[in-house]
Amino acid sequence: MTALLEDKAIVITGAGSGIGRSAALVLAGHGAKLLLADVDHGTCAETAELVAAQGGVAKAVKADVSLEDDVRSMVEAAVVTYGRLDGAFNNAGIDGAFESVADSTRENWNRVMAVNLDGVWLCLRSEIRAMLATGGGAVVNNSSIGGLVGMGLGLSAYVAAKHGVVGLTRAAALEYATRGIRVNAVCPGTVRTGMYEQVVATGVVTEEEIAAMQPINRSARPEEIAESVAWLLSDRASFVTGQALAVDGGLVAQ
Ligand code: NAP
Repeated sequence: MTALLEDKAIVITGAGSGIGRSAALVLAGHGAKLLLADVDHGTCAETAELVAAQGGVAKAVKADVSLEDDVRSMVEAAVVTYGRLDGAFNNAGIDGAFESVADSTRENWNRVMAVNLDGVWLCLRSEIRAMLATGGGAVVNNSSIGGLVGMGLGLSAYVAAKHGVVGLTRAAALEYATRGIRVNAVCPGTVRTGMYEQVVATGVVTEEEIAAMQPINRSARPEEIAESVAWLLSDRASFVTGQALAVDGGLVAQ
């Protein structure tokens, strides 16, 4: 049997750490050839080295997903390197400041929207253009449980942006359903990454409280999210589009 993502050329944003780095290792393990992007080129290059060390293929580029030119260059780099673009995991994101709606600032709102929503839109637009030119593909956008439910933690800009990612995913999926491009989202519960550590460090919630949000009563390992992304990007999910897949230990089933 061929590997799940045998020879597929796939872009991953935010690949320098957390879920993005884990996705790089998991997707490469399933046979994908990767174009890795992050705002921090150093950490992204480290991820590419980790992929190479396990026998995979990856090239690292610097790209801030909120910048149109960076995103265009990132997708061009994938097409130049591999001759085509088969898949993309639009993963880069930030949590932003913890502030109640009444105390929220324009600065935080704009930055969270620029990275978490505009960034996904810019990536999706360039990726779809490339996929239309090279025969179709699959995209997975990283939303959050905060894209499906409000979280009441002082993260309203984050929740609004992540709901926007789900809406954008559904709209794009419908537009390209007959043109060989599938668009889905994953909505992770809490995942043990740098972003998770930042939330714990604020003292707003304890690790025990975070775990208890999920009926499974723990946070996810990054690779548990990455495996769902691998499947959605693969041809085995060929009839799945427009979905926001909760990978959340049962959180939104409550
Ligand atoms: P992470 O460990 O902080 O990784 C995010 C990566 O994205 C970092 O390498 C970061 O670089 C990079 N990045 C930040 N801004 C960027 C930009 N403008 N352009 C390109 N890259 C950028 O966080 P994570 O937990 O893996 O989060 C990945 C995604 O999962 C995010 O979209 C997040 O919202 C989503 N998510 C996470 C959780 C969770 O509990 N961890 C739950 C649900 C959804 P720097 O470190 O240099 O800033």
